[in-house]
Amino acid sequence: MVYCPRCGKEVREDSRFCRHCGSPLHVETETFTVSGDDLLDRVRELVREGNVTRVIVRSEEGKTLLDIPVTAGAVGIVLFPWVAALGAIAALVARCRITVERSG
Ligand SMILES: [Zn+2]
Repeated sequence: MVYCPRCGKEVREDSRFCRHCGSPLHVETETFTVSGDDLLDRVRELVREGNVTRVIVRSEEGKTLLDIPVTAGAVGIVLFPWVAALGAIAALVARCRITVERSG
């Protein structure tokens, strides 16, 4: 048995998605540091790459500022409500860290 990284419940090792919360189980994460000015463009770019399931924006100290669940095929719709929030963060921080989760 393995445990879901999202909800912590037990799931079968060979399943691709958690049967409790639907979260992908084989997730690759990648973290970048970007300047506030580049934040929105970088997030847009990453989401456009396609297999991204989640984008987390953190401060340099590691505090989570924004946690964006991304649904495949709905990129424009998904990102739209977050644009203002990303803009606000960009105005506040000189640099921040972006962690992307990709389904494997
Ligand atoms: Zn789960």
